[in-house]
Formats: sequence, C-alpha cells, structure tokens
Amino acid sequence: MSGLILSNVTKQFGTFKAVNDVSLSVPDGTFVCLLGPSGCGKTTLMRMIAGLDLPTTGSVALGGEDITQIPTHKRNLGMVFQSLALFPHLTVGENIAYALRIRGVDKADQKKRVDELLGMIHLSGFADRSVNKLSGGQRQRVAIARALAISPKLFLLDEPLSALDAKLREAMQVELRQLQQRLGITTIVVTHDQREAMTMADTVVVMNGGEIRQAAAPVDIYRRPADSFVADFIGSTNLIPFRADGRGQASIFGSAVDGFSLVGAKAGTISVRPEDVQIVTAEGSSVTGTVTFIRDLGGTVETFIEAGGQQIVAVSSPRTRPNVSIGQTVGLRFDPETSVVLAQ
Ligand code: ATP
Repeated sequence: MSGLILSNVTKQFGTFKAVNDVSLSVPDGTFVCLLGPSGCGKTTLMRMIAGLDLPTTGSVALGGEDITQIPTHKRNLGMVFQSLALFPHLTVGENIAYALRIRGVDKADQKKRVDELLGMIHLSGFADRSVNKLSGGQRQRVAIARALAISPKLFLLDEPLSALDAKLREAMQVELRQLQQRLGITTIVVTHDQREAMTMADTVVVMNGGEIRQAAAPVDIYRRPADSFVADFIGSTNLIPFRADGRGQASIFGSAVDGFSLVGAKAGTISVRPEDVQIVTAEGSSVTGTVTFIRDLGGTVETFIEAGGQQIVAVSSPRTRPNVSIGQTVGLRFDPETSVVLAQ
C-alpha cells in the first residue's frame, strides 16, 4: 500500500517511552493532524517520520518502501519546523529556490517554479523582497513555499502557525488546507490546538502519554469520542457518571433515566456536549439541578447548572435561550441520540 505507514513505532529515552507502539496509516493525498497536550509525544513521532530520530522499535514506510533507516535528506520531504527559520540574508525568491539551486535546477526553471509558488501563496511580485521586510504571516507562507519547491512526497509541519496571532492563524489554517487540497500532497501537521486540527485535517490523531487514543475524521472525533480523554480534549463536554443495574435500567445522580444502556459494566460515563443539554421544567424530570450562573456572550448563552454535586454547562443561541434565572431548580434532559456512553 502506498502512503505513509507507521508500524508499532516506539521511541524510548532511557526507560521512558515518549512514543509507545504507535501504528498509523496515512493514505496518499490526505491531511493528518497529530494533536495532543504538551509532552504527549507528537513532536517525537514527527521527528521519526522525518528521519531526524530513529525509532527504538517499529518501522516507517513511505510509498511502499521501508524508510526507517533512510536519512532525512533522502526521504523527499518538505518540512516546516519551528526551528527551521528562513535565511535572513536571502530574498523571498532565493529562499524559495534554495533547494532547487542545491539540486542544480537551471535558473529559468527555478524562476518558473518560484513564480508558480508565489502565486500559490498569494505573494506574486514579492520575489525580490528581503524576508526581513515581511509580516509574520507572509514569512510563514514563504516557509511553506520553500518546503514545497521540490514537490515533496510528504509535507511535514510542526506547529507551523503557533507564532501568529489568533486572527491570522485562523486565516492561515484555511489557506494551508486549501493549498494542500489543490496540490493533493500528503501532509502531516503537529498541533496542540484542537480548533486548528478540526479546521484542516481529514484525520485527527489524538495522542496522550505517547499513545494514539483515537484517529478519525474531525466530526467523528467530536461526535463519537473513543474515551473520556478524547471527549474532554476535543471541544468541551459534560462528563456525567452513570450507573446501570444490570437489568437494562440506567441512572444518573440516583434517578432512573431512559434510553441509555451499558453492556457488561455497572458504571460508566456519559459525554454530553453543552449544546446537547436540554433545560426543561423541574416538574416531571428525573434529573434536576440548580442554575448557578448565566454567561451571555452575545452569540451564545451558557447556563451553568449544579446537579448531583457537579457542574453541568448548557449552551444555546440567544434565540433559544432558556427562560431561567439564577437559583431556579430546573430539569435536565440528555438525549441518548446525541450523548456518548463511555466505559470507565
Ligand atoms: P509539546 O507540545 O510540548 O512540544 P510534544 O507532544 O511534542 O510536546 P515531545 O516533544 O514529543 O512532546 O516529548 C514527549 C516526551 O518525551 C516528553 O516527556 C519529553 O520530555 C520527552 N523527550 C523528548 N525528547 C527527549 C529526549 N531527547 N530525551 C529525553 N526525553 C525526551
């Protein structure tokens, strides 16, 4: 099979496993984001894909060829790593053409490719500009063009947008995704920003403690998280303990609820997204709580409810805002269709 295939990759530093038995298949032309909290092993995994580190055990294959022992410069990669800055003494055009010049591509072809790439990153006419006279976003685009100059087989980016301010970062996420789709290049990005991963990726790979917790399409990760770590890390969620009596009857905070079942276990957790929590009247509701705070953010309204000794957050739009006030006892309804039952 072509694409990138990681098979049982482990990286050990002393006795510590920074990456533990990771297997992943990245089909050609897809965009994958490695996502996880600081220290989860994403950079270490990326460095092994890049050939900057050797796995302790396991293998890396690209396009059907085992490249585990192949040095970085022979892997035909485009890389944008935080540590790989632009060459400050070269112009924009010279930076982009750098790898072509090293490879002995003739001047006319270099210029053609540079012009093509400048067009792609919306910087046509910038070839002779000093890179010191670019904004942060422009500099990042040049770094991307420089990495793509050689038409790499695999495009690797480690936190490529982290130095940019929030607005520019969001715009660049869309741009990077559109560029990747136009080129159809297999791309792997390391990020700790879940919104960034959800914006760009075909597949989000959620890591924790050196292991993959889930690898799936963004909407599946959000709607069907594999465990409570993923549910909590992606977006926000209410994790509500839940008990089953073994005869099909489930209960939340000691009250019977319908529609939930847990096979082969007595306790679990229900993940309910704030937008899926329904606030209803207390009368006739099995689960009730007290409204403790209401946050009106203009575009959304968050209602905080204390129930069963924990805080539950419900989100609505201003138009569907529940008609409740602080201190009021309300009923809570969790729809089995939109809730996810997680084993403990
Ligand atoms: P961040 O988002 O903070 O960059 P990360 O998910 O990229 O985190 P890694 O840089 O892959 O995490 O590090 C994973 C773990 O491996 C960390 O606990 C780190 O301290 C450890 N580690 C990384 N490189 C080495 C090394 N060369 N020697 C020893 N430990 C290392």
